[in-house]
Amino acid sequence: MGNRGSPAATPVLGSNGDRTVVVLGAGVAGLSAAYELQRLGVPVEVLEGTRRLGGRIYTFHFGDSPDAPFAELGAMRIPAGHSNTLRYIAELGLADELRSFHSLLADKNAFLRTAETYVRMHDAARQLIGELREGLSHDGYHPETLMFGAWLTLVVDAIAPPGQRHDLRRDLRTRLLDHVERLNLAPFVRDNGSAFDLHGVFAAHPALREACGGPLRGFLDDILLETSTELFRLRGGMDQLVRRLARRIQSPIRRHHEVIGLESRPDEVLVHLRVAGQHVVRRCAQVLCTLPFPVLRGMPLDGFGDDKLDVIHQVQYVPATKVALHCREAFWQREGINGGASSSGGRVRQTYYPPIDGDPAHGAVLLASYSVGEDAELLGRMSAAARYAAVLADLAPMHPQLLRPGMVLNARSLAWGQLPWSGGGCSVQWGLDPAVADEQRRRAQEPEGRIYFAGEHCSSRPAWIDGAIESAFDAVSRMVMRMPAGLADPEPDPVHADVPDVLPVYAKVPG
Ligand SMILES: Cc1cc2nc3c(=O)[nH]c(=O)nc-3n(C[C@H](O)[C@H](O)[C@H](O)COP(=O)(O)OP(=O)(O)OC[C@H]3O[C@@H](n4cnc5c(N)ncnc54)[C@H](O)[C@@H]3O)c2cc1C
Repeated sequence: MGNRGSPAATPVLGSNGDRTVVVLGAGVAGLSAAYELQRLGVPVEVLEGTRRLGGRIYTFHFGDSPDAPFAELGAMRIPAGHSNTLRYIAELGLADELRSFHSLLADKNAFLRTAETYVRMHDAARQLIGELREGLSHDGYHPETLMFGAWLTLVVDAIAPPGQRHDLRRDLRTRLLDHVERLNLAPFVRDNGSAFDLHGVFAAHPALREACGGPLRGFLDDILLETSTELFRLRGGMDQLVRRLARRIQSPIRRHHEVIGLESRPDEVLVHLRVAGQHVVRRCAQVLCTLPFPVLRGMPLDGFGDDKLDVIHQVQYVPATKVALHCREAFWQREGINGGASSSGGRVRQTYYPPIDGDPAHGAVLLASYSVGEDAELLGRMSAAARYAAVLADLAPMHPQLLRPGMVLNARSLAWGQLPWSGGGCSVQWGLDPAVADEQRRRAQEPEGRIYFAGEHCSSRPAWIDGAIESAFDAVSRMVMRMPAGLADPEPDPVHADVPDVLPVYAKVPG
């Protein structure tokens, strides 16, 4: 194993006869896989490099009290169609904690940063249409066409990285508005022309996606999903999903076991680990690896075929950065903002106003900034102190209360692109032709000898919890199919065969 020391010189754990499946990584993919394998009676063990379970599901609590406010530094919402996630939530007894998640566009009093100033969302239409017109070659479009262009610009500007923002402006000018001009969009105008049902338009006219350029088209579904009205959150924090899952796993979950190399051999896998400063080697019959590919890129992978190495290096990841401020009070409520998000522009991009689940006496959390791509990289490269200062400077004109002495009690940020345990926010398939993306996913999932792969990057829903769970189900099915008779319960569908149909529960979610 390169310069990490030969296996012979280091302690080797595990024996030839041991059939335990060793799962690498205790994010939601690793924990789901361990849970499903255990359900099938397969001996399993989870190795996690950090002290914390959950990976990119990370609820940070500002204080030890159960009522302390918290920030979702990773995943924060669950789309209504994400049935794997919702099934687990029901199965783990968390359905009562589901609440509606209010996204961008949900609160008309939230802000939109324009080229020169800030306006409230309810005043955004005029401003956005004015700015859109400036870049057009003629002024003959229907008002509804311009509303469409304005609203699409709003959501893409708030969420997408600079490349996509640029692509959208080009697409609008060159083809999208001409395409839309032929449609009857009057039914989608809302609130006397101050709002527009963008989601309704794309649902009614699916061919519209084709009129968007490649990169934007790849990102559009995520943008529409992220701004949908059919999103949920978990009252009390998303990490409950992880904690409940971990509690159901009776097999060992070993923290502080950092994988530093893998050796794929014909009849075994050697997992090289750093444990308490020591290099140890775990001999395994089968391994399920859920480590994000940027993590694998940084370690020796002996015995891996060229195709597997290629795909490990090819899958694209985008950085994501979140900055949360623990405030003395939810001052924004006094300005009429009761949730949702602002499109804050600048380095901040999006600002969310999460509800207070605990005791308001402990203060409230403002998710001051959520950015992806180059914007996230820019903030991510700063020191934590410089990052807070940059976000405060950008937000203060919109929320001057932030500068009041004693208003900001604490801050926490996480730049996922800089974190060695993920090496990126999420995997993306932006700009890839759907057939190429499918093929890349197939290659990402493909086992390497006795090493199987799971994680959001191996799924049909990359960058979502649902994809991570889906990938775990797929990997477990593959493993079980190849296991010797008698090792796993020969249930044909290993996944949730015994779970009743729980989905109607979600129709009753409180706001
Ligand atoms: C900022 C942000 C916002 C998001 N928002 C949402 C959202 O609202 N809704 C949604 O559904 N999804 C969201 N996602 C995506 C979602 O969080 C991920 O898709 C999902 O959590 C990934 O799970 P995973 O198990 O595949 O990977 P991870 O959670 O990354 O798990 C991998 C695990 O491996 C461990 N590990 C890494 N390296 C090593 C090593 N060398 N040795 C041992 N262990 C190691 C890590 O510590 C981690 O625990 C968001 C992600 C980010 C970053």
